Amino acid sequence: MVELKNVSVTYSTGVDALNNVSLKINDGEFAFVVGSSGAGKSTLIKLILKEIDATSGAVMVNDYNLSTLKRKKIPEFRRTIGFVFQDFRLIPSMTVYENIAFVLRVIDAPKKYIRKRVPYVISLVGLQEKSNSYPNQLSGGEQQRVAIARALVNDPQLIIADEPTGNIDPELSYEIVDLLKGINDCGTTILMVTHEHDLVRHFGGRIINIDSGEIVFDEVIGGVNDED
Ligand code: ADP
Repeated sequence: MVELKNVSVTYSTGVDALNNVSLKINDGEFAFVVGSSGAGKSTLIKLILKEIDATSGAVMVNDYNLSTLKRKKIPEFRRTIGFVFQDFRLIPSMTVYENIAFVLRVIDAPKKYIRKRVPYVISLVGLQEKSNSYPNQLSGGEQQRVAIARALVNDPQLIIADEPTGNIDPELSYEIVDLLKGINDCGTTILMVTHEHDLVRHFGGRIINIDSGEIVFDEVIGGVNDED
């Protein structure tokens, strides 16, 4: 769950990146966030991750009130969110399996759990055959699947995908969104930032359009899939 109430963000340079934004994304929703460069999309994501604080207004994410969240609670809070980056950010010297297991090792998860959980999330993204491959042996689409498995491994309430198809061949972009939709069907809330209007038109669903720090459109539209 993500809720912003009358949130404004003004950077120290005086730029108003978000201007009195109110927004609610319920548990289990899938929402696309669209908007041109400089619109305020990254600022919105940074707020949700508590990388920056609102200048005014309130931000609630997964039952944490970020305005009052203590610094020492931030790691615990961040573990309720999985993040998928445009440029994958896999560790080149680690295999697919190790890249994903690493997330659980750093939080000291039991070895037995890791041995069960990692193959499970690898199978969810359809990469069983590639468990022992290194990132440079995979296509962009496959690397992004690994990154999605890594985001999933902690069983987060919310996944934020920031331009996840930006470095992928257009025809494979649909598969990545299909995968995220499948994960959403299992209950994980998904917020996907994208520039790709064709993708949004194809899939439809909730579209939040930010322009100059304001939400100018927030509605559910039908996708191409729904038309026939
Ligand atoms: P988007 O992600 O939609 O491209 P941003 O959230 O990055 O937009 O930026 C929104 C506005 O805030 C822009 O005018 C941008 O130049 C400004 N901005 C972003 N980050 C900073 C920062 N750290 N300091 C000052 N201004 C910033």
